[in-house]
Amino acid sequence: MKKHTKTIKTIKIDVDKCNGCRACEVVCSSFHAMPKYSSNNPARSRIRVIHEPLRDVYVPVYAGDYAVAECAGRDKYIIDGKEYDECAFCRAACPSREEFKEPDSGLPLKCDMCEGEDEPLCVKWCLVDALTLEVREEEVDEPDARGEEIEFEAGLESLVNRFGIDKIADMVAQLAKKK
Ligand code: SF4
Ligand code: SF4
Repeated sequence: MKKHTKTIKTIKIDVDKCNGCRACEVVCSSFHAMPKYSSNNPARSRIRVIHEPLRDVYVPVYAGDYAVAECAGRDKYIIDGKEYDECAFCRAACPSREEFKEPDSGLPLKCDMCEGEDEPLCVKWCLVDALTLEVREEEVDEPDARGEEIEFEAGLESLVNRFGIDKIADMVAQLAKKK
């Protein structure tokens, strides 16, 4: 299979440096507001700073992929002898909790690395460098166009099944206006 070089961007999280200021949540929700920067509501942020379970440490968590169903097995985390809630660090929007869902529509949210910006805004606004951007080049297989298409169709189908075609169509229309 043909290879090509892909730029991989990763945001590194240093929990020890995070002071819980939540500037990352504010700027993320504001960037994704429609129109852009018209409001800020951390419930719409694609990064959430988890605090409740321990009350003595802040853990930023990025929104990942939407999960169609609740997971069968959940993780428990023990850090410094303290047990964290089993869903505390999960990145998925899923049917069993409200995190990473758009509050009005209930649609899942996912970090898009601030598409169109040179640097993710949460990284830029984190003044204590708890969030830092790492960029590396990796050799990967040439993507199979049909494979990507199938994956896209499957993802779209699961969203339509869960939220209904009207809601998805409304969301697409809003996104189109934003562009
Ligand atoms: S901006 Fe940085 S320090 Fe503030 S809550 Fe977010 S990750 Fe933590
Ligand atoms: S990279 Fe951008 S979209 Fe992702 S969490 Fe940070 S501010 Fe939000």
